[in-house]
Amino acid sequence: MDVPRTAEVVIIGGGVMGVSTAWHLAQRGCEEVILLERHALFGTEATGRCAGGIRYQFSTEINIALSRLSLPMLDRFEEEIGQPIDLRRCGYLFLLTGEEEADAFRGSVDRQRQAGVGTEWLEPEDIAAMVPLIDLAGVVAGTFHSLDGLADPAGVVQGYVAGARRAGARLLTGVEVTDLTVENGRITGVSTDRGEIATGSVVNAAGPWAATIGFMAGIELPVLPIRRQIAVTTPIPELPDDFPMIIDFAKSLYFHREGPAILTGMSNPDEPVGFEQSVDPDWEAIHLEAAVNRLPILAEAGITSRWAGLYEVTPDAHPILGRVLEVEGFLVVCGFSGHGFQHGPACGLLMAEEIMDGRAHTLDISSLDLARFSEGRSIDEYHVV
Ligand SMILES: Cc1cc2nc3c(=O)[nH]c(=O)nc-3n(C[C@H](O)[C@H](O)[C@H](O)COP(=O)(O)OP(=O)(O)OC[C@H]3O[C@@H](n4cnc5c(N)ncnc54)[C@H](O)[C@@H]3O)c2cc1C
Repeated sequence: MDVPRTAEVVIIGGGVMGVSTAWHLAQRGCEEVILLERHALFGTEATGRCAGGIRYQFSTEINIALSRLSLPMLDRFEEEIGQPIDLRRCGYLFLLTGEEEADAFRGSVDRQRQAGVGTEWLEPEDIAAMVPLIDLAGVVAGTFHSLDGLADPAGVVQGYVAGARRAGARLLTGVEVTDLTVENGRITGVSTDRGEIATGSVVNAAGPWAATIGFMAGIELPVLPIRRQIAVTTPIPELPDDFPMIIDFAKSLYFHREGPAILTGMSNPDEPVGFEQSVDPDWEAIHLEAAVNRLPILAEAGITSRWAGLYEVTPDAHPILGRVLEVEGFLVVCGFSGHGFQHGPACGLLMAEEIMDGRAHTLDISSLDLARFSEGRSIDEYHVV
């Protein structure tokens, strides 16, 4: 199969960002939308390996605003697109173990409340009553928001793929982008292992590989791939149905219910930058020891599956969204730094607006431009797990 010779828009990458952008463009009547995914299936990289967490609890106004736009889109997803996504509003409970951390979270809770997000501040006794299975050693406080929770990344990807195809977009697997053509400062074409496509508009939705695609256009994107890993246990009958997503913030350690079992992850602060995606057994041993200390009942469970995936990390843990001024027709939607799944619906909409209306207008995303790094406008997100 060769690729089509021309397209109005070419989207590179079939994870949540690419397929959401394709759906939003096609839905609004953009003709000749082509999405290229190099693997045989959509959504098998960061999106398919993620923990599925969705939350309002962020520290910056822009990330809270992205959640306020995106999470209601997940609420409407099944009705609008016809695909179930196993949405579970189990809440996110952050466990705080130091005064400095607690002070930072107090500031975040104020910002969340100003934005209309009713996060609760919890004392240790409230947490003990909410999750008696957790060992609260060292915990000084917590925050909880009941509308945070979980959704199924595979369902979201499949829904957008099917919906975009119904609306006329062409989403292709098994096609690798190998180069981009830039002439007189504007994008004119995409080279692939299945042929060339002439186009004036390219969306870089290549996730952890976004910098590689940027390089093809002569643009340096500060997006680094960093391995993160997950383990899933055997069933634990004692788990209550309303067990929330729990994050031991200082350790970047988290747990949530995965059916009758627990899914847990913990970020290695010393993980080197790179594309390695095998599970590191040494880090898994450290992770599971910390997990058992916090959730002792895990000592009675086994591990049924484990995997690693890549975060796509920027210097300020915020995404890079929108047009790249140096190359006309080149847009990026990347660098979500470990929390992009939940912002996929919103960012697809915003990218479609950039392309079809000249600028994103449902939300002002000007603070998320690439130029912020060279112009000293970085905006650090504190709630990174
Ligand atoms: C272990 C882990 C846990 C996470 N947990 C959460 C969570 O709980 N909540 C949350 O919101 N986020 C979470 N994330 C982050 C989230 O998964 C990502 O931010 C999000 O999925 C990024 O989506 P994407 O579409 O940009 O990237 P991807 O899903 O990686 O998609 C990019 C696609 O581009 C394709 N591609 C790359 N280069 C080319 C090329 N040259 N030609 C064609 N195709 C190409 C790739 O094959 C890939 O399919 C987690 C991530 C990991 C790794």
